[in-house]
Amino acid sequence: MANPERYENLVIGSGGAGKFMAWTMAGAGRRTALVERGALGGACPNVACLPSKNIIHSAKVISLARRGGEFGLKTDSISVDMHAVQRRKRLMVAGLHQAHVERTTASGAELIQGTARFVAPRTVEIDRRSGGKRIISADRVFLDLGSRAAMPEIPGLRAANPMTHVEALDLDRLPEHLIVLGGGYVGLELSQAMRRLGSKVTLVQHSPQLADREDPDIGAALKDLFVDEGIEVLLETELRQIDGHSGDRVRVHVNDREGKRCIEGTDLLVATGRKANTDAINLEQTGVQLDEHGYIKVNDRLETTAENIWAMGDCAGSPMFTHVAVNDFSIVYDNLNGANRTTKNRLIPFCIFTDPELARVGRNESEARRDGIEYRLVKMPMAEILRTRTVSEHRGFMKMLIANDGDEILGFTALGFEASELMAAAQTAMLGHLPYTVLRDAIFAHPTMSEGLNQLLANVRVR
Ligand SMILES: Cc1cc2nc3c(=O)[nH]c(=O)nc-3n(C[C@H](O)[C@H](O)[C@H](O)COP(=O)(O)OP(=O)(O)OC[C@H]3O[C@@H](n4cnc5c(N)ncnc54)[C@H](O)[C@@H]3O)c2cc1C
Repeated sequence: MANPERYENLVIGSGGAGKFMAWTMAGAGRRTALVERGALGGACPNVACLPSKNIIHSAKVISLARRGGEFGLKTDSISVDMHAVQRRKRLMVAGLHQAHVERTTASGAELIQGTARFVAPRTVEIDRRSGGKRIISADRVFLDLGSRAAMPEIPGLRAANPMTHVEALDLDRLPEHLIVLGGGYVGLELSQAMRRLGSKVTLVQHSPQLADREDPDIGAALKDLFVDEGIEVLLETELRQIDGHSGDRVRVHVNDREGKRCIEGTDLLVATGRKANTDAINLEQTGVQLDEHGYIKVNDRLETTAENIWAMGDCAGSPMFTHVAVNDFSIVYDNLNGANRTTKNRLIPFCIFTDPELARVGRNESEARRDGIEYRLVKMPMAEILRTRTVSEHRGFMKMLIANDGDEILGFTALGFEASELMAAAQTAMLGHLPYTVLRDAIFAHPTMSEGLNQLLANVRVR
């Protein structure tokens, strides 16, 4: 092996965790290399969170235009230009990419575009995109390898060349009939967006409800929403075999409660989960161990089983959100600077950007019951919040779990207009360990969604 080039820090992967590690370390004057095999910035700005929310917003504008008469908009006809939909998204992605390039340059981190593979502990060989190889060794290594769409072992699936979110978010054409496999957040968001853009959509879900980590009332409300929008939702449906080619003609053979059936469509999207990108980087050379699902084993300080190697974000088995990857970075970085932070007891919110949105922070009812936690429940239809009347967005409900033996807020779930923003008020109260009565008695501006918290909490059963 040639003599490795020496760095203080080697960051592999430029996603939510890696880029901040590289920028911050280099900004503090430490010699830092950032290796990225794909697009700078990782999944979120390039192929995941932000492009999906961009397309979802175009789909929302189109759905509002279809409802235009209700708001006084006169249009003779509405048609969708997928090239224009993509143009807006690509412009956004290009702008974000430029911002990442500038910030990386300004930080002083050295960006190496290529694929890293360990050849010794804390030493990698990089296959450079521009050709040639480099060997780098570092005092500290930070792994931010991310994840990719899982491809379940279903006969004929790979041969059908299905889309993942990456291809689906980059379509310049509208699928005539899209079959979506998976009713988690990727499947839900993309099913609704593609339906609103004009595709016929069938959503196939193996479990008895959509968003199966949520309470059954949420799953049922999402199903009603989708059915009302003209999406065919098939629950408790097992995939048996796939024939044909996505983009042309596909036949999805399934078993459901009635027995065997076949769904025919033109395009196939796989959204059945994620897999960590830990398989091709030769971690055996490092002493970094994986768990049984292929995620990097870390302790609650995100230290791996190898000395001076940390893992962050999706590859470390952290909850798969950009905000968690960024938080992972700050835990590792602060600990290197003398802090004692851990991943224990993090309050992690999430949103599913269907329209209306689903937002949750803390426990839902199913989790509280599973953990034997007694709670008081308050639940209220969104339509009771006057703000929803002003915008004609009445759908959904919100609910809060309050401790039975105190006034602590245990969890908040909202399906409705601006649920993601509304959740932040509940989350802030939870972070501050405020009793629910503080929100109940707070004066929120009128007419806002937050005002609904007063109404919701007025109904808490007194202990
Ligand atoms: C369709 C979709 C929508 C989503 N929407 C949201 C959302 O709205 N909000 C949210 O919070 N989360 C969302 N997520 C999840 C979010 O995108 C991820 O949790 C987040 O991007 C993970 O960040 P990360 O830093 O762990 O990894 P990534 O962003 O995946 O970055 C890892 C990087 O490592 C690089 N890499 C891997 N191996 C090597 C190697 N050997 N050499 C060099 N480079 C390597 C990869 O190319 C990649 O760029 C969404 C995901 C999807 C798929």
